Amino acid sequence: MALIVQKYGGSSVADADRIKAVRDRIKRTVDAGNQVVVVVSAMGKTTDGLVAIAQSVSVNHNQSLIEIAAKEREMDLLLATGEQVTIALLSMALQEVGQPAIAMNGSQVRVVTEPNHTRARILYVEPDQIQAALALGKVVVIAGFQGVAIDQSTGLPSTEITTLGRGGSDTSAVAIAAAIEADICEIYTDVPGILTTDPRIVPKAQMLTEITCDEMLELASLGAKVLHPRSVEIARNFGIKMCVRSSWLDDAGTVITSPRIGTGNLKSLEVNRFVETVSIDYDQVKIALLQIPDHPGIASQLFKSLADQGINVDLIIQAVQETEGVNDIAFTIPQKQLQLAEVVTRSLEIGASLVTVDSNVAKISITGVGMIGRPGVAAQMFTSLAEAGINIQMISTSEIKISCVIAATDGENAIAAIQKAFDVTARSHQACEINSENSSDISPVRGVALDRNRARIAVQQVPDRPGMAAKILEQLVEQNISLDMIVQSQSDRDVNEIAFTVAIADLAKAETALKEYAKVLGYGEVRCDGDISKVSIVGANMIHQSGIAARMFSALADANINIEMIATSEIKVSCVVRDHQAEQALKVIHQEFNLSGDHAIEVPSALKK
Ligand code: ADP
Ligand code: ASP
Ligand code: MG
Repeated sequence: MALIVQKYGGSSVADADRIKAVRDRIKRTVDAGNQVVVVVSAMGKTTDGLVAIAQSVSVNHNQSLIEIAAKEREMDLLLATGEQVTIALLSMALQEVGQPAIAMNGSQVRVVTEPNHTRARILYVEPDQIQAALALGKVVVIAGFQGVAIDQSTGLPSTEITTLGRGGSDTSAVAIAAAIEADICEIYTDVPGILTTDPRIVPKAQMLTEITCDEMLELASLGAKVLHPRSVEIARNFGIKMCVRSSWLDDAGTVITSPRIGTGNLKSLEVNRFVETVSIDYDQVKIALLQIPDHPGIASQLFKSLADQGINVDLIIQAVQETEGVNDIAFTIPQKQLQLAEVVTRSLEIGASLVTVDSNVAKISITGVGMIGRPGVAAQMFTSLAEAGINIQMISTSEIKISCVIAATDGENAIAAIQKAFDVTARSHQACEINSENSSDISPVRGVALDRNRARIAVQQVPDRPGMAAKILEQLVEQNISLDMIVQSQSDRDVNEIAFTVAIADLAKAETALKEYAKVLGYGEVRCDGDISKVSIVGANMIHQSGIAARMFSALADANINIEMIATSEIKVSCVVRDHQAEQALKVIHQEFNLSGDHAIEVPSALKK
């Protein structure tokens, strides 16, 4: 007998027939001798509908989602109703076929969260009521996406309803699985599992039978909405077995493997250690090409030439430039490949005004799933480096990692400052690398993701001195704005440019905050661009092959798609492109890495419309 948590998403419970199909699957699982806890979403597009109604009853019909979010407490009360409809219906349907069941909402179970409306993180889930009902032979049907806020003065649950953020039912399910020590958490949805990309854009996307937590975390955070990234974070921290399957088919789906032993704490499920490791790599040289023309094919030409010579490029960043039509690209490589790389770079005729080489550099990185959605972590890293008088030359971020290039001579001070700030012990460079599964037949690129929900902000003429990146970020942290893909350009002058992406919904708020501080902090113009998208490739084996980024850039260049920003980490490469070219960018990259299969994937919920 196994204890199984099954989560059914909105399309899986979209109407009465679908609810009956779900009921039958649950019944079969119970009849096979298992105990089952079910977590459900609101039916179909109910949550979207509720958001739209909220907008329409407002005095100002055109008010933005941000303005609506200002009434966050009421929004939570409203949105939480969606899931309550589903639990009641499903529990009734189960009882009707003789299967004892009980429906419970988040506050009845006591899914206790931080007191943050519309984006609450789960602190703990009380297992007692669930276990008592299971002991009576019942299926427990729980409303996903919602919880009840903790009362900070008493430390006990209050009566305030909270929600976890859109797509949050996956997170509810895995949190519940952790609390009741379930054997597996199964996520049922409208696709057969995790695919190489979104089948709604590339119908011949292929199924992955397995994916590592690290890869899934990146994919989910970079726009693959099939899983809520926070659910993967919990699965990894608690070592929970998780799979994604179709609720229409009986296929096995995709297993998400966690190579690590869970380090989670059941009393603060989602409020774990922000930073798990800090590491430094002295085997780095930085090459920067300044003021190269901003048109398709430049990055591709450069990195293809380097890859052809077997040069292993590590960090790549490309930032927007204040001068229209030109870009800076900087990258790091291992020391021993410097001579060759310099020859290749200098011999290219791509119109760079200057090529600079610096071998007095080191890359310091912090990693940790706890930094997802917490902009304060990057700010704290930059602040602690600034307080130690260390200048940051390059920054590159992924969802679970922040790397800064600094002077090698600052290395030891930097490690000490970061250890103090985050209370972590340093690991060697090797030790904190992402697990890189053994098989050589696995494609280096496992998935391609598209995030059309982002906007870019570039802060220009930032004085090149310690503390500037930290100060800029702090303005945004204060407004609770999450940013990613932070890229700081290298420059030949004494000013830098810092560019990053934020959620489109946060763009106006971020712009106002940054413009307000321009004079005080001494930086120049703040340029905003809401017309961009971010396309990314992810794969844990990517670091073992050179030229992967070059292939991505070439595919874009061949399609005449200009790359406006690049940021890399060991397991991903992200490029910012014009939004109108976003889907095409995804398709050509998917094609470049031969990720398509023979058959088109059917998405039943898409076909119905
Ligand atoms: P649910 O309502 O079950 O939670 P979602 O709509 O949140 O379902 O997530 C499933 C959708 O995720 C799919 O229909 C698909 O369009 C999209 N998707 C995006 N990227 C991927 C991917 N790499 N693999 C599978 N599905 C993906
Ligand atoms: N119903 C919520 C949403 O649409 C939560 C979920 O489906 O995961 O965002
Ligand atoms: Mg979902």
